[in-house]
Amino acid sequence: MRKFSAIPLYVKILIGMLLGIIVGYGFLFAGYPAFVVSWIKPWGTIFIKLLKLVAVPLVFVSLIKGVTGMRDIKKLSGTGIKTFTTYIITTSIAVLFGLFMANIIQPGKYFPHEKAEIYKNQAIANIGSKMDSAEKIKNTGFMDYVTDIIPDNIVAAGSDNTKMLQIIFVTLLFGVALVLVGDEKTAPLLKVIDATDLAILKVVDLIMQFAPWGVLALMAGLVADFGGDGDMFAALGIYAVTVILALLILAYVFYPIFIKLFTKRSIKEYLKAVFPIQLLAFSTSSSAATLPFTMEQSEKKLGIKPEISSFVFPLGATINMDGTSCYQAIAILFIAQIFGIDLTVSQMLTVVALTVLASIGTPGIPGGSVVMTVMVLSTIGVPVEGLALILGIDRPLDMLRTVVNVTGDTFVASLINGKVKN
Ligand code: ASP
Repeated sequence: MRKFSAIPLYVKILIGMLLGIIVGYGFLFAGYPAFVVSWIKPWGTIFIKLLKLVAVPLVFVSLIKGVTGMRDIKKLSGTGIKTFTTYIITTSIAVLFGLFMANIIQPGKYFPHEKAEIYKNQAIANIGSKMDSAEKIKNTGFMDYVTDIIPDNIVAAGSDNTKMLQIIFVTLLFGVALVLVGDEKTAPLLKVIDATDLAILKVVDLIMQFAPWGVLALMAGLVADFGGDGDMFAALGIYAVTVILALLILAYVFYPIFIKLFTKRSIKEYLKAVFPIQLLAFSTSSSAATLPFTMEQSEKKLGIKPEISSFVFPLGATINMDGTSCYQAIAILFIAQIFGIDLTVSQMLTVVALTVLASIGTPGIPGGSVVMTVMVLSTIGVPVEGLALILGIDRPLDMLRTVVNVTGDTFVASLINGKVKN
């Protein structure tokens, strides 16, 4: 028999997922979902907390390595511009594709209107606080959004996982300064950073040993939380199917075809390499939590050069969210359709611009995009309360859009990897 430790990690994660679903339903049908919520689900929370714990130091150390690894400012700005532009282009394609799908399928037309009130009242309590934060974001205006990227206190910025953009800003500034000072003088510090990086990756390795169990607990907890909501899923079925279809097409048709077209890698090879990353993204619903594994796996299995990986992935986990943007486009159109609002072409273009912008500021955490969706809805004048309708089934869709978010990062990294010379 094969030794347990010899089984590849993704197989173990897959087994963990399946067992989690079985355990979750087992307790649900036996009438003890509370047991799962009190005793099993917390292990999933511990797993996600561990992964998030390494997110800030990892982004800091990797980005410094990525930036200083480029050695000269010209190469750095070239790669930076290429990466950022590619992120914006792929995100825009994803939004346009979402709009296309929502216009073709028109999920809002199938929604049973008599259920709207019931679900709205059920869920409205959940989004009260999110509406407040979104209202604040909306009222702050574009320049405040930009101003907020610059922290006035490093420690405060580093103490909040949702402030990843601030951390990225500080790190890029510091990295650029190190490049300008030059290798000779900064060598000792870079050595320390190298060693820290190795230690953080070791921590990630240790956490990943726990992944199959963490994933088992996460899935069981999910079943216990949502298992009874089949009715809601049925009412929102066509909407969910539209989102799922669009996301699956992005992950398993668009990227693989583009990979084949723009890099030398075969579709099969690419999918095999990204599948374990997708599994982890699916079970954690968090790009930031998946980041350490995305980097490790892409370097090992996709042959991404470490200096590219250290630069592209920490940025991507925060600013590149193709799945989220595609989902937002569908969600916004769905809500507009329910309320019988026909969006004009200029409103649709506003949706494209806003969702692309919003995806940059969306934190890579479970449900990270909810506040941003509220902001887009209220800006284009679609009733924000509509969001309450779709929040009930948001978690499974969040899992899938996170898969697309991280897959999009691996795609861009593969492109940039081929373009940047040593
Ligand atoms: N959960 C997503 C991520 O981490 C963000 C979102 O769409 O809510 O990538």
